[in-house]
Amino acid sequence: MNNKILLAMATACILASCSPKETPSDFRYSLDEFADLEVIRYQIPDWESLSFGQKQYIYYLSEAAKYGRDIIWEQNFQYNLPIRKALEKIIRTYSGDKQSKEWQDFMVYAKRVFFSNGIHHHYGEHKFFPDCPREFMESLFSDADCDKSLLEIIYNPQIAPFRRYQGEGVDLIKASANHLYEGVSQKEAEAFYNAMEDPNDPEPVSYGLNSRLVKRPDGTLEELKYTTGGLYGKALSKVVENLEAAAAVAENDVQRKYIAELVYYYRTGDLKTWDKYNISWVKDTLSAIDFINGFIEVYGDPLGFKGNFEAMVNVRDEDASQRTVTISENAQWFEDHSPVDPRFRKAKVKGISAKVINALCLAGDTYPSTAIGINLPNADWIRKEHGSKSVTIANITEAYDRAANEKENSVLKEFAWDEAEIERAKEYEYITDNLHTDLHECLGHGSGQLLEGTPSNALKEYSSTLEEARADLFALWYLADPKLVELGLLDNPDAYKAQYDSYIRNGIFTQFTRIELSKQNTEAHMQNRKLIADWCYEQGAAQNVIEKRRRGGKTYFVINDYQALRGLFGKLLAEIQRIKSEGDYAAGKELVEKYAVNIDPELHREVLERYAALQLKPYRGFVNPDIVPVVKNGKVIDYRIDYCTDFVAQQLEYGEKYSTL
Ligand SMILES: [Zn+2]
Repeated sequence: MNNKILLAMATACILASCSPKETPSDFRYSLDEFADLEVIRYQIPDWESLSFGQKQYIYYLSEAAKYGRDIIWEQNFQYNLPIRKALEKIIRTYSGDKQSKEWQDFMVYAKRVFFSNGIHHHYGEHKFFPDCPREFMESLFSDADCDKSLLEIIYNPQIAPFRRYQGEGVDLIKASANHLYEGVSQKEAEAFYNAMEDPNDPEPVSYGLNSRLVKRPDGTLEELKYTTGGLYGKALSKVVENLEAAAAVAENDVQRKYIAELVYYYRTGDLKTWDKYNISWVKDTLSAIDFINGFIEVYGDPLGFKGNFEAMVNVRDEDASQRTVTISENAQWFEDHSPVDPRFRKAKVKGISAKVINALCLAGDTYPSTAIGINLPNADWIRKEHGSKSVTIANITEAYDRAANEKENSVLKEFAWDEAEIERAKEYEYITDNLHTDLHECLGHGSGQLLEGTPSNALKEYSSTLEEARADLFALWYLADPKLVELGLLDNPDAYKAQYDSYIRNGIFTQFTRIELSKQNTEAHMQNRKLIADWCYEQGAAQNVIEKRRRGGKTYFVINDYQALRGLFGKLLAEIQRIKSEGDYAAGKELVEKYAVNIDPELHREVLERYAALQLKPYRGFVNPDIVPVVKNGKVIDYRIDYCTDFVAQQLEYGEKYSTL
């Protein structure tokens, strides 16, 4: 329902979109690597096709997003900002040997702090430590005239070990380092908010979302709200100033209305207005440019009340959105030609089209590490009454994909059989991945019908896996259909082979890098992929459709006959549709139990070892492209995109420009 869940889905269901854009051949996506982190650049496609007014709107929204930067740092931990300021000053003024190991270690620490918006790991939430000795850090602090009392906070493992502590038998607020409460115990905070909540309110307010709860010397509790006149007042005033500048050049009145509501909310802290804003925002499905800006996700708070500051500006990806429109407009053709028994097809089918966006600016809690989708607002009653926006961020997905393939030691190179397979993947895997997702989401799940009298829950615990398999098979079957070329969705009738290669390789083998040795395969999407790949491997064995080969002590899975494999996908689709339509629980159970659950221990060990040997960074994040005003005769006449070439330089620039302390 929100970013983090979407991120989890990303690994599970690779939601993606957008056609591959022409990029300058010297553009490198991967920018920097250190510790367990990689920094990537994303591109903004079609910037020049935007009007001057749109660019202006984007510029001010991005400024509004970035002015909230200090807030998330302080929410994460009270001393993050003074520590960041010290690190910035040291980097700017240091004149010693930059090749020395101590300095290099210091820089790795600084970059980790920048990446995590603080001294705790952005994902693991534990405190991390510099590799350079404390004496060296102390000399840096001395030379730059920084507050040396911060050293104890940086080096002492007893101080603030976890940003957010998750455990039992302790006071979670006291055990967590983040700065969302002050002097308040968990019991007191829970009692405070429980007293506010009205279980009978059909439109419950998200109490506590935009404040810090503090205990006064007389023992009373008080909420300090994040408003232009309250907490982070200076930062929020700049946010508001830029939101108002954006409103003046907005695309339409709908945008102006919800920006006005958001501004009122930042001035007053009134959470009813926040809901009102969200309702106006969620109804805007037509504007090309969109944004989020506010205290949104509550994961940072061990009690789940306080929202982290988060912002993002984006623009609709017209090509990719058009692609899903094309697919859904032809939904009936796909339904009528599917390889399932005509009794199980829908007489009238309606496709859905998905909105695909490109990120223009990441900020607050979405920077540098971000999700690949947005699914908001979070308030359940608003989602129920007014709907939600669910979008995938194409240029972020693309950047992940391209950065991975740039590497010498990519997963693709390690597990593909030969150069031809690698080349095919580089050329067509991205677009066919996106088409696979489109076909799966826009048509696959909605296709087919139950026979009369079949209960919808007949497949019980096997229903999710079988349902995902059905949607995947629908997509796999049609990826190889000439219809896609005819509709202009692919430019090469053989493009699908790249998707078949990667689907089989992943389903039968490489996806198990995410599972511990000796554990079973339990997640529905992973089960469905294994089911399909293993079933086809076995069914095609006599014709050697998929061949298991060995070379240099390593295993590979190679497709010998793509059309035969397509036939197997169609056959399995027909069978799983039958199982669903008739509610054949026993047959569904057998498929899942036989093909989806148990991982060959030899293969499993091998994939884990080969993957580990690649030494890939487990966590990735981004720098933003700079949106630069082009000035002529003292007047802004255009906005240009400059691609950042240095992670630290962007951090220092943001630290200088967007800090209001
Ligand atoms: Zn699905």
